Amino acid sequence: MPPRPFLPVAAPNLAGNERAYVLECLDSTWISSTGRFLDAFEAAFARFCGVSHAVAVNNGTAALHLALTALGIGPGDEVIVPDLTYIASANAVTYCGAKPVFVDCEPATLNLDPDRLAERITSRTKAILPVHLYGHPANMDPILDLARHHGLIVVEDAAEAHGATCRGRPVGSFGTCATFSFYGNKIITTGEGGMVVTDDAALAARLRLYRGQGVDPQRRYIHPVVGFNYRMTNVAAAIGLAQLERIDAILAARRQVAAWYAERLAGINGVRLLGAEPWAVPVPWLVTVLLTEGGARERDAVMAALLAEGIDSRPVFYPMHKQPPYREDTCYPVAEIWSARGLNLPTFESLTEADVAATCASLWRAVAGFEAPLEAP
Ligand SMILES: *Cc1c(COP(=O)(O)O)cnc(C)c1O
Repeated sequence: MPPRPFLPVAAPNLAGNERAYVLECLDSTWISSTGRFLDAFEAAFARFCGVSHAVAVNNGTAALHLALTALGIGPGDEVIVPDLTYIASANAVTYCGAKPVFVDCEPATLNLDPDRLAERITSRTKAILPVHLYGHPANMDPILDLARHHGLIVVEDAAEAHGATCRGRPVGSFGTCATFSFYGNKIITTGEGGMVVTDDAALAARLRLYRGQGVDPQRRYIHPVVGFNYRMTNVAAAIGLAQLERIDAILAARRQVAAWYAERLAGINGVRLLGAEPWAVPVPWLVTVLLTEGGARERDAVMAALLAEGIDSRPVFYPMHKQPPYREDTCYPVAEIWSARGLNLPTFESLTEADVAATCASLWRAVAGFEAPLEAP
């Protein structure tokens, strides 16, 4: 058998209209932050999320910062963020001078646990920032009920979940606004890029104001607020539009990959696949497996064994309360246990059934090795 090529965790597929649209930008010289692809990408993405407005920005972190700023989050405010997420969710709160307050996750989905939310709400709480982690929607109904009861804003971080639905509604359509990322490893990509979506026309206008240096749309060089340059280029939007044209095929391919994993991992003792709740239709961003026993040492040994066979993997995110800028002595037991036991496997559109079979076989060999005592690292 010929040697199998190295399997990365993620890889974009740019085989649609990406090239033609980018060349159109170059040929027309519309390469900066206005142009037909920006307008078309924003309009198509808003439709995709079932909302009226979409504001394209230069990355998903900027989308979060822009959203929180336009919503008036500032010093003295607290924003509730899941303890288990990518650090950008917490950092965006910090950029505003506000404080991220962490809440533990639920073991079934690794998402913010609605039952733990109420105990974290104080008189300073202004917003809840649920994250749809690894493409599985957060349980929005109880989160929205609590937000309504306490008069809180909800901003969804949907950076990893383009196209997922919660009780039949697309993520991005639940919160006051929602943010997405189009980084190279996300469900669809623009290289670097992000989007804020909302149904609120006044909020959309504020998002546009802050995105473009705070310049008054009626009076050039008059800046009523301190804004940012968070604009997306027409070139990035050209790639994004071409990706969005193919999103049904992209999601179908990713779901097929997830189904192959589910089939083959079912028989492996000692691992649990992060599945779907009955009320959710997730999008497989990164297939996540959890060792049912052990900790970070065993998980790291599994990752090393996969790598030795040419298969890349990622550890599940590290809890926010253990990151140096956010260190706390409080215990968030669910986040701590499953973060230590979790890893992400290769998940992308062009992954083949043979790739998935090889990955699962490699994983099976690694986990079977635990019957023998592990050597000290
Ligand atoms: C990727 C990601 C972001 C940040 O997006 P960038 O485009 O990389 O800035 C924010 N939140 C979550 C949950 C992410 O996965």
